[in-house]
Amino acid sequence: MLKDLGLLISLQNVDIELDKNKKKSEETIAQVKEADEKSEKIENNYKDKKEESKTTRIKKREKEKKIDEIDLMLVKHDNEKYKVKSKPEFEALEREISVLDNKKRETEDILLELMEKEEELGQFIPDLEEKLEKTRIELNQKKESLKSELSDVSRLIEQLGKKREELTHQLDPYHLKLYEQLRQRKEGLAVVLVKKNICQGCFMKVSPSLVEQIKHQEEITYCENCNRILFFLK
Ligand SMILES: [Zn+2]
Repeated sequence: MLKDLGLLISLQNVDIELDKNKKKSEETIAQVKEADEKSEKIENNYKDKKEESKTTRIKKREKEKKIDEIDLMLVKHDNEKYKVKSKPEFEALEREISVLDNKKRETEDILLELMEKEEELGQFIPDLEEKLEKTRIELNQKKESLKSELSDVSRLIEQLGKKREELTHQLDPYHLKLYEQLRQRKEGLAVVLVKKNICQGCFMKVSPSLVEQIKHQEEITYCENCNRILFFLK
């Protein structure tokens, strides 16, 4: 067999493996990223709920304090009622009491809402904590396994890269350039097998005279249809 044809067949095999592993590496990196994003989303959700719970507690305390203040004012006004001397003064006091009563009712409504929210969060957060812990463990395990996969693939890519370099060094530069151009134009497949007289690159029939030529393996032969380099397995 022509020396360069043998080298080209080997190079194509190495490149197919390289392409496959590079794709796998990219996919694995994407999966690691996805796991990280998922984990971040869950952590953020948890932090948000904790913050919400803290804010609710503060607001609740503010409203409780407000109600206490209003109560004090109401007691004070109640006492004043007995001390006023004129009717307008009495009416003004009554109006003020009515305003305070309304204010108190409004504040109590808000307080009730805040209490309900606090209770809801109080039930939700422990569940979330449990879920968070479980997800953390699962995602960490997944990430560890992905990283180990990635390291295996990287090692393989490195080995294949070395093999590729050895092959390309032995190849005639003209044939190498041709191969690279073909690979670029033909979705990575430059050297293909002829099986049952059919080119395995474009799946078209190869002419009998060309089949004879390929069988001799004394020169580089190209498919009449797709221009890929052809070879036979003996
Ligand atoms: Zn073809």
